Amino acid sequence: MYTQLPFDDLQVDPTQKKRIAYFYDADIGNYAYGAGHPMKPHRIRMAHSLIMNYGLYKKMEIYRAKPATKQEMCQFHTDEYIDFISRVSPDNLDLFAKEQLKFNVGDDCPVFDGLFEYCGISGGGSMEGAARLNRGKCDIAINYAGGLHHAKKSEASGFCYLNDIVLGIIELLRYHPRVLYIDIDVHHGDGVEEAFYTTDRVMTCSFHKYGEFFPGTGELRDIGVGKGKYHSVNVPLRDGIDDSTYKSIFEPLITKIIEWYQPSAIVLQCGGDSLSGDRLGCFNLSMEGHANCINFVKNFNIPLMVLGGGGYTMRNVARTWAFESGLLNNVKLPTELPYNEYYEYYAPDYKLDVRSSNMYNQNSPIFLDKILTSIITNLENTKHAPSVQMNEVPRDAEDLGDVEEDTQMALDTKGGSEFARDSQIEPDNEYYNDLDKKEKNILTKDEEMEIDQLNNAQEK
Ligand SMILES: [Zn+2]
Repeated sequence: MYTQLPFDDLQVDPTQKKRIAYFYDADIGNYAYGAGHPMKPHRIRMAHSLIMNYGLYKKMEIYRAKPATKQEMCQFHTDEYIDFISRVSPDNLDLFAKEQLKFNVGDDCPVFDGLFEYCGISGGGSMEGAARLNRGKCDIAINYAGGLHHAKKSEASGFCYLNDIVLGIIELLRYHPRVLYIDIDVHHGDGVEEAFYTTDRVMTCSFHKYGEFFPGTGELRDIGVGKGKYHSVNVPLRDGIDDSTYKSIFEPLITKIIEWYQPSAIVLQCGGDSLSGDRLGCFNLSMEGHANCINFVKNFNIPLMVLGGGGYTMRNVARTWAFESGLLNNVKLPTELPYNEYYEYYAPDYKLDVRSSNMYNQNSPIFLDKILTSIITNLENTKHAPSVQMNEVPRDAEDLGDVEEDTQMALDTKGGSEFARDSQIEPDNEYYNDLDKKEKNILTKDEEMEIDQLNNAQEK
């Protein structure tokens, strides 16, 4: 079943116009996990700087989202976990010895200054992105501060505290009968898979390194349970996968899944640690190999949310997310980097490129054939029977429900798969957050520059 495809130049159609809502909060780059920690939110600011200096702000609507509130976070997470995250700080850490253990906060997931605000920015972008997609206000929403796929209902994990992806998908489920989640981070998207493991309203598909690698889950045979059976797809890969091999498994699989599941919205986690030369990763994708996934998914013309994720060689993550933002706008950005405030990071070549290396690809065609055959056979032998019929969906501002009531509903139904019980999903469609309040936060180019300048001044 597996056929090795050639890796051709990426194609864009400049006549195709997508409405893109890009979410960015200039504060994000100021948060720091601590000296020596591989996760550096600064890479999001570097990507943003490239995106701006390449002129993509002329093509997209740029927003600063309202940070997610505690109540919003608790649509997935437990109250006591979010309460802890909101109160703990490096100064009062010794008062929370028991909680640190319970909520898995410590080495990988340290408590740093502004942790709660950081989570709020990440979650706010994904929730507002979802809300704009719901209202048909954009075709694509981008939030590179999101994509934190390891966070659990009441536990931090793998540098992730708040699962913005689950929160964004919950928002999409208010309007969308079926949401497809695709994860190309080098690590398994365990937090998102776990949240939706028992429902057929969300299909998750994660491509990741498997075998003696964090977080240790994501076997081929993990396919979901109950109503969620066949709605979790895992593609466990070995070290050194290259562009054409990744394309040859990604494209046929995603085509099959979309054909079978017919999602009405897609969430794509674009973790940059699957790139060649990543500080923690072990794959061998070039920038174009990574970006091919984004370009391929975009071409299905299904409402799309694009999120960040891992990525620990900052200059390459920034390059790749900038290049991918270009593709989403149907532009292939020129290779010569524009001058920007982080220009020195891109020495010595100052090019928009991440090259693959000569590392050995441990993924043989026989191995990949086994994976592809297993997954596609599962899907072909099962007729997809969506359990939820979406009836009328409110489209107008006049239809907005009571916000308090909406929140109460969300709180009542909090928690992983539980919230997805069908009886509770349909009434949810009758309510809607007042987006207009949030939309005030749109930034002009001048405001953007001003904020950037302020940030730079602070750093110096
Ligand atoms: Zn990762």
